[in-house]
Amino acid sequence: MPVFSHSRLSTFENCPLKYKYHYLDKLSPEEELEGIEAFLGSRFHETMEWLYRAKKLSKIRSFEETLDYFTKIWKENWHEGVQIVKKDFDARDYFNHGRKMVENYYDRVFVNDDSTTIALEKLVLFDLGEGVKVRGFIDRLSQAKDGVYEVRDYKTSGYLPTQKEADEDRQLAFYQIAVQNDYKDAKKVKLVWHYVAFDKDVQSTRKRAELRQLKAATLALVKKISKAEEKSVFPAKKSALCDWCGFRNICPAWKHLIKVEFMPENQFAQDNGVQLATKYAELYSKQKELQEKLEELKQAIEAYAKKEGVEVIVGKDCRISVKTTEATRIPPKNSVQRQELEELVKKTGKWLQLSDLSPSLLKQALESGVFGDKTAQAIQKLMQTTQQTTIRLTKTEE
Ligand code: SF4
Repeated sequence: MPVFSHSRLSTFENCPLKYKYHYLDKLSPEEELEGIEAFLGSRFHETMEWLYRAKKLSKIRSFEETLDYFTKIWKENWHEGVQIVKKDFDARDYFNHGRKMVENYYDRVFVNDDSTTIALEKLVLFDLGEGVKVRGFIDRLSQAKDGVYEVRDYKTSGYLPTQKEADEDRQLAFYQIAVQNDYKDAKKVKLVWHYVAFDKDVQSTRKRAELRQLKAATLALVKKISKAEEKSVFPAKKSALCDWCGFRNICPAWKHLIKVEFMPENQFAQDNGVQLATKYAELYSKQKELQEKLEELKQAIEAYAKKEGVEVIVGKDCRISVKTTEATRIPPKNSVQRQELEELVKKTGKWLQLSDLSPSLLKQALESGVFGDKTAQAIQKLMQTTQQTTIRLTKTEE
């Protein structure tokens, strides 16, 4: 059984095919697409690690030093492959945004933080049960003056979760399980997310029963993954996350699109797939157009047959027969009228013969007069009679 992480489980939930490529086939993405948001997040995390490593040795870095460090590692790590999707913004906007987040954190949290840092980027590993192991990394594990352990996570994203979302978060709850396994005095654990773009912290706590539920839900998910592996069923699940997926060049949902995206026009027109898709689209729209025209024609033929009092219309090498019949329908299942009809038929004592409420059998029963006049009228009222015209085309010899 492999060791699971929150990210491995999330990858399966987000796209089973990506899970297969990454964790089972161990394929390397063709190109590592690093979004500017992820780039900024990494630099922020590194800055915090640097800041607290020094604090662990009783060295307090100044605000200016911290900003300088952020700037230095931003420049050192910058590469041309960093993707900026939001076209209204450039790298400098994100850099300034990052500096603002460092400033927010330093002023609000760091200078007021009297907790003891126990570990930074701490690797945790615990047994979920049934031989399933989970691992992860805690950004910072600290202990407050009152003895409460604090699992802290830095978030640089532009989305602030609701309290409900935080209370349902899986990742930090996993870390709480690991901390309580590893530290016997960790009776109380607080989960803290530093949403630095909003200059806000979000907190949550978990009861033992909630952690038990989480373990059970995770084991169920692991079983689902094992089943997918047994049957080798890993469907592609397209989403906004595809923009950052390095497997688009082999993913069936994107492969052709990637192949033809930058093809020269003449090569594009000659591609087999392009030709098939284009032809299909052309015929499909013609078929739709034809269907609409046929419907109009059908109505005109019906009107002509009615006006002229004919049932057969002769055309060149063809004949069209027009038949109008009465169709009796019973009310649809689960409707109030259907229930009323069932009750009425049951009261007549004929339910055994008519329980499937077949319109033709009901019609026969009505015509044979087995129901009393009042009941027959009530049943007839519930059954709808409509006119139905059928048009049939026959080809004839010239
Ligand atoms: S491109 Fe999208 S659908 Fe395809 S594997 Fe990646 S995440 Fe899944």
